[in-house]
This record gives sequence, structure tokens and C-alpha cells, in this order.
Amino acid sequence: QAKQSGRSTLRFFDPDMQRLALERAVLEIDLRKARFDDEFELYYQPQRGRDGSLIGAEALLRWNHPTRGLLNPNEFIPLAEEIGVIVPLGAWVMERACAQAAAWQQAGNRPLQSMAVNVSARQFLQANFADMVQGVLQRTGLDPNLLKLELTETLLVKDIEGTAIKMAALKRLGVRFALDDFGTGYSSLSLLRKLPLDQLKIDQSFIQRIEHDDGDDKLVHSIIALGKTLKMNVLAEGVEKPAQERILSRHGCDEFQGFLYGRPEPASQFRH
Ligand code: C2E
Ligand code: MG
Ligand code: MG
Ligand code: MG
Repeated sequence: QAKQSGRSTLRFFDPDMQRLALERAVLEIDLRKARFDDEFELYYQPQRGRDGSLIGAEALLRWNHPTRGLLNPNEFIPLAEEIGVIVPLGAWVMERACAQAAAWQQAGNRPLQSMAVNVSARQFLQANFADMVQGVLQRTGLDPNLLKLELTETLLVKDIEGTAIKMAALKRLGVRFALDDFGTGYSSLSLLRKLPLDQLKIDQSFIQRIEHDDGDDKLVHSIIALGKTLKMNVLAEGVEKPAQERILSRHGCDEFQGFLYGRPEPASQFRH
């Protein structure tokens, strides 16, 4: 229809499109003017070992929007990436998560072995990303071995050489890396071998029906075997049922994360 009318602006007469464009524009303004300390908060979700012990936590961002209430990352991270706010926001997340991990470490009743922080492509591709992380580690005093950066396959395939160099620099500090949402992207086996990854996180979509779907069961079994071959630790995401844990455990999965063990919670409620 746009072609018939000869103008591509026709779609803006569609009320749905117009509403969406307006919502996005308003959200963009809110995101640009948000004061991070007041409006953003990190939630923490536990990661468990084979014996049920608490191994680590993943920091997950929430936006306490002044009028819309609590927003999940899928409602604002894509926009934050697009307009570049993810760079300062991601640095804020790094600082907060590392400070929290250092505080828990000092309180020390049962120390965590890792604090996982999600890193978006645009953030990682910044020339000063490694310096930013190093600065945060120095300021917060967190042992670099406790910091685990979660990268995605889409990020890794963008600039393999540059990524490898950047990862190597961070590895020298002692920082570890996990490959998030594994199985949903396009990473090749040679890529997994080339990059210094410590952990594969199997995407929750493969876990969801594992107890009913023989295909998913076999697939997950071979992902775990692949992880072992590559000497990586393997974590299953989105574990919700004991039956799923039993199957994963039988296949040799090293770590587990999901509602079965705990939902993401504010630091004050995260018990360890
Ligand atoms: P992710 O890194 O794969 O995080 C796991 C997501 O799965 C989280 O959603 C978590 O709440 C959810 N989840 C955990 N266990 C279960 C379960 O048993 N069942 C189900 N159905 N879901 C479960 P959340 O917190 O909404 O985050 C979504 C995504 O947003 C994250 O996926 C991550 O990619 C991104 N994200 C979150 N925080 C940050 C951040 O600080 N920076 C960046 N760049 N991305 C972030
Ligand atoms: Mg993650
Ligand atoms: Mg994931
Ligand atoms: Mg995800």
C-alpha cells in the first residue's frame, strides 16, 4: 500500500504504528534522562552446584520507571543498545554488581565463587571496555577471579580477532567468561575453541521441555559433552522442575540456575 500511495509515511496513519512510535519516543526520553542510582536496581539470581551449594549469582537489571513501575530488561535493553545509553548504564551495572560482590565477600559467612554480569555487544565493542572493567575492579576491590562476564554469540561473531584480544587482556586480570544463551546464536565450533571461554550457559529454551522431548534431551546431552570436550564448565539456565535437574545432572551438567532454586531478587533479599 505504501508503494501505491507513493509515500512511505503512510504507515504513520496506522494508529497502532503511531502508538508504538510514540511509546518508543517517550521511553527514549525517559531512558536518556534517567538518574541511574534512583531508577535502576540490580536483582540477583542464585547459581547452584551439583551438590546444591550456592556457587554464584547473576546480576539482572531492573528499571523502576517513575510512572510505569518495574520494567524487565527486555522492555528497555534493546532500546538502550540502540541509542547508546547501554554504555554508561552497563558501566553502572558493572560498578554496582562488583561492589555488591565485594561486600558479600567481606561479610564472608558463605562466600560466592562468582558474580556474573551481562555485557551487551555495543558495550563490549567500546575501545575502553577492558579499562572500564579494570577501573571497577580497582575501585571496588573485588577479586577479579570472582567476576564472570556473560557474552552472547551474536557479540562474539561480530569481530572475532578484536574480541579475542580484548578477552585475553581481561583474562590476564583473572576475569572469567561465560557464553550466555548458548544454542540460540550462530557460533561455530572453531569459535568456541578460539576464544577463552570458561562456561557455556545452555539456553533455557532447550531445558523447558527436556523431560518430555527426547530430541531436546539428546541435544542437551551432546551440548554438555561438547562443553566437557572443550574443558568448559556447563550451566543450565531456566531450570524450573526437579525432573529437569535430575536429567541434567545425569548428563553431567555442572551448574544450575532457575526458578527451582530462586527467582532474581533485590540484594537485601538475596540470602546466602
Ligand atoms: P539472561 O542473561 O539469559 O538471563 C536469564 C533470564 O531468564 C532472566 O530474565 C531471568 O529472570 C530469567 N530466568 C531465570 N530463571 C528462569 C526460569 O527458571 N524460568 C524462566 N522462565 N525464566 C528464568 P531477565 O532478568 O528478564 O533478563 C532478560 C535478559 O536481559 C537477560 O537474559 C540478559 O540478556 C538481559 N540483561 C539483564 N540484565 C542485563 C544487564 O545488566 N546488561 C545487559 N546488557 N543485559 C542484561
Ligand atoms: Mg545472562
Ligand atoms: Mg541466558
Ligand atoms: Mg537472554
